[in-house]
Amino acid sequence: MKNHENVPTSQLQAWDKQYVWHPFTQMQDWLADDPIVIVAGEGSWLIDSDGNRYLDGVASMWTNVHGHSHPELNKALADQAARLEHSTLLGLAGEQSILLAKRLIEIAPTGLSKVFYSDNGSTAVEVGLKMAYQYHCHKGAPQRSRFLRLQHAYHGDTIGSMSVGGISIYHDTFKPLLFSTIEGPAPYCYRCPMGKADPESCGMACLDALERLMVEHQDHLAGMMMEPLLQGAGGMLAHPAGYLKGVRQLCDCYGVLLIADEVATGFGRTGKMFAVEHEGVTPDIMAISKGLCAGYLPLAATLATEEIYQAFLGNYAELKTFFHGHTFTGNPLACAVALRSLELFDETGLLESVQQRSKQLTTLLQQIGEHPHIGSLRQCGLAAGIELVQDKETKAAYPWEEKRGIRVCQEARKLGVFSRPLGNTVVVFPPLAIAEDELDFLMAGLGKAIRAVAD
Ligand code: PLP
Repeated sequence: MKNHENVPTSQLQAWDKQYVWHPFTQMQDWLADDPIVIVAGEGSWLIDSDGNRYLDGVASMWTNVHGHSHPELNKALADQAARLEHSTLLGLAGEQSILLAKRLIEIAPTGLSKVFYSDNGSTAVEVGLKMAYQYHCHKGAPQRSRFLRLQHAYHGDTIGSMSVGGISIYHDTFKPLLFSTIEGPAPYCYRCPMGKADPESCGMACLDALERLMVEHQDHLAGMMMEPLLQGAGGMLAHPAGYLKGVRQLCDCYGVLLIADEVATGFGRTGKMFAVEHEGVTPDIMAISKGLCAGYLPLAATLATEEIYQAFLGNYAELKTFFHGHTFTGNPLACAVALRSLELFDETGLLESVQQRSKQLTTLLQQIGEHPHIGSLRQCGLAAGIELVQDKETKAAYPWEEKRGIRVCQEARKLGVFSRPLGNTVVVFPPLAIAEDELDFLMAGLGKAIRAVAD
């Protein structure tokens, strides 16, 4: 596979090292190795400049839905590009953003009725935070300016979204820049923050603790930000059934807006279109991105209930306007691809196939789970985390400096599998349309790589 300009791989690698600063990457380590240079994609596979194929085990940062370079999505993109590449939503409406908003509200949990576009997960979260706070201002409660969030939460990398984050290795450095938030215990049952041993009998003590925080801060709380069902970047922490419903009830009880961050879980990942559907919950505000545009283009949206939207209506001079917007808000190319992607969900029966692949994943995880250094297997739909531990008895973690997760992924690459770990947790997050034999291949590769690195 040649790149467009037939630049040799070695030259591309040299230029990458010379010019590109990679995200979440210690560049000193990066410079010591020759990177794989991806030039093409096909279905669940990525293809490098030397023609090697890698199964995309993380769906290109959790975005890919129908596979890479999908002919129907390519066509939707090309057709739209031939008509209009971009026009602004500031002062104009756009055909594609209208049609997509209508479709999103049709498939969203009942009660969400308005779509506010932005262009990535972090901005969708920022919009949710600002919207929630300004809503309370309009309701005469400007003192409600604080947010509750969970331990190990990840909502993005901008200042606001980091403020509601709870991963010390990512967020601690920036603490002086962040606004303070209130941390609730994460329902991380393998390492229960409440010191309970058994999720079956604990009575969800973490929810009681959350309630105590709501009582303590009730007059000042604007919203509760959380990833429903699965805390992704925090280590693929799958929540126990009923937790989300419990949070919804608490929010209702204390007048706190529930902001669901469905950036990672939305668009079929959990086996339903949105994770909140599993517990019959409608959030007040919902952030979506990643799978929204099937992995094609940066597109995001924040959905809100009519109650919230109505609070922003008023005379011009009342300054109730939601003062927020991004240059590429509602971009027609991205909206056209997202619309076609949603049609493909129906045409290919993708949600049913995700449910089948999820069952297959459960079986495959059980097969590798007996390993002496696998402490916890966590799965939610077609997403899973395999937590490696130094000592299974004591649950003692491998020191993070040993880079066990990174080393597993390096081994997996030799076997044709691309993955990216979260600390000592190996991640499984393939394109949703992955075929049965491809999922077997992915898990066989990860299993072998784990055995090579953790023995
Ligand atoms: N929220 C969640 C749950 C995420 O997983 C992510 C990214 O991984 C984000 C927000 C931030 O999205 P982005 O990287 O597009 O800003």
